Amino acid sequence: MTSRPPLLPATVAVHGATHSLDGDSRASKAGDAVATPIVLSSTFGFQSTADLRDFFEGRSNRHEYARYGTPTVLSAERALASLERAEDCALFGSGMAAITTSLLAMLKAGDHVVLTSDCYRRTRQFVEGTLSRFGVTATLVEPGAASLVERAIVPGKTRVVLAEAPSNPYLRIADIPALAEVTHRHRGTKLAIDATFATPINLRPLEHGADIVLHSGTKYLGGHNDLLAGSVAGSSALVSAIREMRGVLGGVLDPHAAYLLERGMKTLALRVARHNESGLVIARFLANHPNVETVHYPALASHPDHEVFMRLMTGAGGVVTFTVRGGIDAGSRFVDALKIATIAPSLGGVETLVEQPALMSFYELTTEERLAIGIPDNLIRLSVGIEECADLIDDLTRALERVAG
Ligand SMILES: *Cc1c(COP(=O)(O)O)cnc(C)c1O
Repeated sequence: MTSRPPLLPATVAVHGATHSLDGDSRASKAGDAVATPIVLSSTFGFQSTADLRDFFEGRSNRHEYARYGTPTVLSAERALASLERAEDCALFGSGMAAITTSLLAMLKAGDHVVLTSDCYRRTRQFVEGTLSRFGVTATLVEPGAASLVERAIVPGKTRVVLAEAPSNPYLRIADIPALAEVTHRHRGTKLAIDATFATPINLRPLEHGADIVLHSGTKYLGGHNDLLAGSVAGSSALVSAIREMRGVLGGVLDPHAAYLLERGMKTLALRVARHNESGLVIARFLANHPNVETVHYPALASHPDHEVFMRLMTGAGGVVTFTVRGGIDAGSRFVDALKIATIAPSLGGVETLVEQPALMSFYELTTEERLAIGIPDNLIRLSVGIEECADLIDDLTRALERVAG
């Protein structure tokens, strides 16, 4: 037996679907296609009833019905499993389908969940508003200290600890090794990390002790603002249980989107390198601009999780959050003056997007209510795309002149 060092992420991004991690096996595709064929079939035929028996008795490995998986989805699942260095991965029609299906597969009435208070809004809504109706209780803890999670764990009841790395909008980074340590003191308690903002290029949570890693593939993995997808990766045992639940709930990814996702992931390493580079240049530029008050970016020494970032991640990505001088109107004047960035929710695509959270996710609240939950009116979230960074800086420079009115 010879053991080779694992292939590096940029290589895995291109070949992860067809080569095993040590690069030894090559799967062949229909018609010897180099690209992954989009197999549009809702059902898959059997040669004979003997063929059926072989399948149901586990002697053959094939497709049966598309809610349980299709060749195109399986190929994208292999690609992402390789990138995460996970045993298995399951894909869903959206990030929320991945998160809700995974939690439903892992929890039952009487169980307890610990999640950080900066988790994705709809994730919190699902845990607090929906799982609670089925007898699952939850404790929200502030991000930043594993000791808070440790104290929130109820021995024998807490089944899942859920955190994000980095989170929205302040890019707090869960200290995964510390969380894994406190989580795994309890038998059967699993650590789930939503690493949508990181991508497996910048952070692989499983290597730091997480049990499952979740993504909204809608963001960086797809990378082109043209699809919705979600994923969960981890051990074969955990992922098969979640895939079973997917077959029941039905939130599987469709083959067209799976093709686009796999295609997007081939350039993931290239794109993320660019997002990291431009994100840092822009964060530094903003930090030195007189019309900017605060900048939140983990690669800056001023970020509260800079040390965690340096220990776990290789880049901070394209999202930069900051406040401009002034109130809601100053923020809006800045956003409206941008020419390259599109005003839109979402992040992680090749196009630069900008949003003013006060006017988007938190529109219904008053200024005071927003402040109370840490969302000032002058807060801006920029998702830096892969355009020429100098052009983005010029655009920001001009727009920042408009802040004062
Ligand atoms: C967008 C997002 C989700 C939800 O994903 P969808 O694909 O929109 O369903 C979940 N978690 C994080 C961190 C996200 O950014």
